[in-house]
Amino acid sequence: MSAPKASAASPGVSPAEKAAIYDYIIPATAPWSRVIHRGQILRIVDLEGQQAVDTLFYNAHDYTERYSAQDTLLAQERAYITTGSRLISNEGNVMATVTADSAGYHDTSAGACSCEANTVRFGHHTRYMHACRENFLLELSRYGMTKRDIVSNINFFMNVPIRPDGELAIVDGVSQPGDYVDMRAEMDVLCVISNCPQVNNPCNGFRPTPVRVQIWDPPASSK
Ligand SMILES: [Zn+2]
Repeated sequence: MSAPKASAASPGVSPAEKAAIYDYIIPATAPWSRVIHRGQILRIVDLEGQQAVDTLFYNAHDYTERYSAQDTLLAQERAYITTGSRLISNEGNVMATVTADSAGYHDTSAGACSCEANTVRFGHHTRYMHACRENFLLELSRYGMTKRDIVSNINFFMNVPIRPDGELAIVDGVSQPGDYVDMRAEMDVLCVISNCPQVNNPCNGFRPTPVRVQIWDPPASSK
């Protein structure tokens, strides 16, 4: 693919002026995955606001290397993901760097919703409601992965304040319609997303909505 000559985008500059090579709307409550090649930029757009996007990363050539929330937080000494955050793998390598973030900050501590957790938090009648872990399982099965390959994820656009006593709270989202986060892949990564179907707490404003994913090739000079 030939890159437009005029583009001299530097890291952190919105790639929006250049045509995306991939553009897809993930329906409400659905899973999605795709390999993002080193240097490419992935943008996730919260189209309607207040929509949690549960996200995992795997080394596209060795799925045993995957995103590590623990190593990421330890390395950056901050509790949230935002512009400048380097997403670290369980082997200590940088998988991706957040280059832009219009929403402000993103959780990576609260994990993904599951049928089991739903029953504990919201009652047994929620046992059969669709959840992020089911989305992850469905999508990971396409790559030969199973339950044991689901690790702590990033919750883009999810608002999880940490209280003074250390408790986590899931409260109304702060993202506005059109808010986005950009990440530059620092290795070939398989990105796996669950567009969160949760309706029992405010993480999706009690109304799961579609999100958009776009991918840009790197500027020609950085290839
Ligand atoms: Zn969820």
